[in-house]
Amino acid sequence: CIPDRTNLCSNLSLATQAVQTKSNSSSAIPFSLETLTLDGYFSFENTHHAAKDFGNTNHFHPSVILYPKSVSDIFSTIKHIFNMGSTSALTVAARGHGHSIQGQSQAHQGVVIYMQSLKDPRIKIHTGELPFVDVSGGELWINILHETLKYGLSPMSWTDYLYLSVGGTLSNAGISGQAFHHGPQINNVYQLEVVTGKGEVVTCSEKQNADLFHGVLGGLGQFGIITRARISLGPAPKMVKWIRVLYSEFSIFSRDQEHLISMENSFDYIEGLVIINRTGLLNNWRSSFNPKDPLQASQFNSDGKILYCLEMAIYFNPDENNIMNQKTESLLSELSYIPSTLFLSEVSYMDFLNRVHLSEIKLRAKGLWEVPHPWLNLLIPKSKISNFAQEVFGNILKDNSNGPILIYPVNKSKYVYQILLSIPISDLRYIFSTSLLSYCRWNNKTSFVTPDEDIFYLVAFLSSAMPSSTGKDGLEHIMTQNQKILNFCAAADLGIKQYLPHYHTQEEWRDHFGPHWELFVQRKSTYDPLAILAPGQRIFRKAI
Ligand code: FAD
Repeated sequence: CIPDRTNLCSNLSLATQAVQTKSNSSSAIPFSLETLTLDGYFSFENTHHAAKDFGNTNHFHPSVILYPKSVSDIFSTIKHIFNMGSTSALTVAARGHGHSIQGQSQAHQGVVIYMQSLKDPRIKIHTGELPFVDVSGGELWINILHETLKYGLSPMSWTDYLYLSVGGTLSNAGISGQAFHHGPQINNVYQLEVVTGKGEVVTCSEKQNADLFHGVLGGLGQFGIITRARISLGPAPKMVKWIRVLYSEFSIFSRDQEHLISMENSFDYIEGLVIINRTGLLNNWRSSFNPKDPLQASQFNSDGKILYCLEMAIYFNPDENNIMNQKTESLLSELSYIPSTLFLSEVSYMDFLNRVHLSEIKLRAKGLWEVPHPWLNLLIPKSKISNFAQEVFGNILKDNSNGPILIYPVNKSKYVYQILLSIPISDLRYIFSTSLLSYCRWNNKTSFVTPDEDIFYLVAFLSSAMPSSTGKDGLEHIMTQNQKILNFCAAADLGIKQYLPHYHTQEEWRDHFGPHWELFVQRKSTYDPLAILAPGQRIFRKAI
């Protein structure tokens, strides 16, 4: 703990080991929980599935799973464990959809709360000038989309994949191609209901219990369990024009991406991909996109090259087809991509947002979904991205056949010029007085930490490993490559942050939070002083 806060930290000890410490199993057996009266129930059997996540490399078995039907089930369980104090080793992990990578939603010999069984509140939509939806913390984003679309409304900020829970993504950030415009998901929340590590139920927002509100958003589940969230909504479009183009020069690709995210009237979604040494790339695109120039596209050769794909989307309704096409053409005319690689498609808003689910279905059919996923997600400051790209793409990584590599910039604030005054000095000439306005899309009071610069890139190495392989598609090889990338970032002092962070030592967590570490520890002491919650993040360890 930090020296000047030793009193706050008497009950918190920091995890310094890679694996969770095995607690005294007799004190961990949670039979006393059976005395609680619940609306839902505890299951002491068939707990193995809670020892698995999307990463498929960490397996910590809980002693019991709580299937809550009400918030009271959650707070009475936590209160009970809290009241046992340090005589019990029991910890509690909320499990949203278990799509973590390194066991973050698991609790070794502890209690896993299966958040999806909490259906209160049902998805409740409020229309009006500032529409919003109230949902349970265990609700999946795909269900929210289905419901809100019935009212012509939709959340504005998304993740690429929608079978994730509200509590799970709000505990991280929720970043996708809309974040440059609307901020991450944690910036699109009006209010939360949280059960703290002391078993208290607290409603919080920017104005009410703001410290807990900010702490929980991006707080890696450390300060409370989100049982309800109020999420802002906006008008939903019916259709999406979805566009891909290629670049061979990283500097031109990133210049165009940064240009697009800085415009006031840009695309609605901007992402990117790195494609290393892929044969027949454009041919594969034809299953979902149409080439603008089929002949030229068929002559493009992707073999042996490092290519950068800029992916953009523009939302529209069918009666706005002409305006949308004009805007698309105008925006594309500002870009310097390889002309023969322009591919376009039109899909429904639902199909666009739910696009990764299609890949999931195909991979599941081939038995390739439930394999190990040694993912690495990094946030890299804009000033260091070309240095990073030069070393990593083509040097550390010779190809990306193990899975996609996403790369796109986001900006914490947006700067636009506002015309304050225009004075006519002749028939056609005016003097303009302007001022620089900054719109902050990222609330820097939340627990989520980003690089220091205003613009940074999300680079996501989304690898899948073949379970028994010892070759280039094996877990060990991919993890070694990930480590090489991290080592390079450290040696070159790039000032990166991990997204969906995973660390082994106290120093690494301190480094990750930087100047925010002290506040993080203080919030832990305030809201979860016994370190009961989210042990799978391995930041704090319950003292017994
Ligand atoms: P879980 O794995 O269940 O939980 C994650 C953490 O949050 C755990 O520590 C858990 O204890 C805690 N937690 C869960 N529910 C609650 C709650 N109600 N209250 C408090 N704490 C809670 N992320 C992005 O930002 N953008 C993307 O585009 C994106 N795409 C993805 C695509 C796929 C295929 C996958 C597998 C993941 C993707 N992610 C993305 C990462 C994802 O957002 C996180 O892994 C997220 O935590 C998963 O949500 P979950 O419901 O499965 O969380």
